[in-house]
Amino acid sequence: MNIKEYNKEDFWRAVILYGLNQATYKIALGESLIRFSEKGKNFISMNELAEDFFNMYLDRLKNGKPQLANPNRKTAMERIISLYNLNKLSKTQAIERVEREAFNDVIERFHTVDKVEIPLKFYEKTKEGLVILDNIYEVFSDAKNFELKQELKSRWDLLESAFEIKHGESELINDIRKFYLLKGYERTDITHNRSVLYGYQNGVCFYCAELMMEKDIHVDHVIPRQLIHNDEVWNLVLSHGYCNTSKSDYLPNKNYILKLIERNEYLIKSNHPISNKLKLQLGNTPKHRMSFVFKVYEDAQKVLAPWTGINGYNPVTDPFYKTFVRELIYNNT
Ligand SMILES: [Zn+2]
Repeated sequence: MNIKEYNKEDFWRAVILYGLNQATYKIALGESLIRFSEKGKNFISMNELAEDFFNMYLDRLKNGKPQLANPNRKTAMERIISLYNLNKLSKTQAIERVEREAFNDVIERFHTVDKVEIPLKFYEKTKEGLVILDNIYEVFSDAKNFELKQELKSRWDLLESAFEIKHGESELINDIRKFYLLKGYERTDITHNRSVLYGYQNGVCFYCAELMMEKDIHVDHVIPRQLIHNDEVWNLVLSHGYCNTSKSDYLPNKNYILKLIERNEYLIKSNHPISNKLKLQLGNTPKHRMSFVFKVYEDAQKVLAPWTGINGYNPVTDPFYKTFVRELIYNNT
């Protein structure tokens, strides 16, 4: 694998957005790394990291949501914060315990995605702490910071939701259903999907493949809503306002349908809480899912006028197809 083919954001996204997370530690460590790099630090002692984890989880756990997939256990962070809240540990004692118990695993595994070690590192571990490498500064140094941070935040929310489902908390399952999957004719507030979808199309507009700026990101139905009559995530993508408008209620050409099929495979691969729902709706195997979407597309072709796409769009140069995660998925399945 030639790592120069990928930009550094790709590797960051591979770590944050993919893989079978059993706990939320990786996301927390990602957040710590951003925070320390924003302060211009290039070394974090284990004690500083422990204090940051302590403060982060103290705040986070106020939401009462599980941080571990296994419903019969709790993470070290949950145990320590709960003892602190019961006044059984002082803040200093709690931070010491975080340092001893909480992050042995995550520091070792941060750079591993689905058993594959990414070829680029964001820190190096020494006896005393973490040396933050320039790669982090390069990823978090431009206008995309906002979206990358949002992705991290929504990934954390999603993991908690996924764990709650495993813990069998049905009220939340209903919430998620409402949030992502509401059927019927009423429009849901589909802008909620924005930060979920952004990372999975590599931050570029679905139709023209150019970068999107924060103020100009629209959620669009690839196969027009007037035919589908719902807001299911498998058919939603992000685009510029202009590209959205020029597509309007026309039916995009096959290139875009193939791209949509592949984007859905990314969502499924991400251990996203809706991945089971997508399998249920579209099929259990990539082949079944592809024929489901093609069937809908063929039906749509009978009634909708075609749209050839944004002038100059070419899948060959589309950054969507040039991600590290894509290589990872295609080499592992
Ligand atoms: Zn566009």
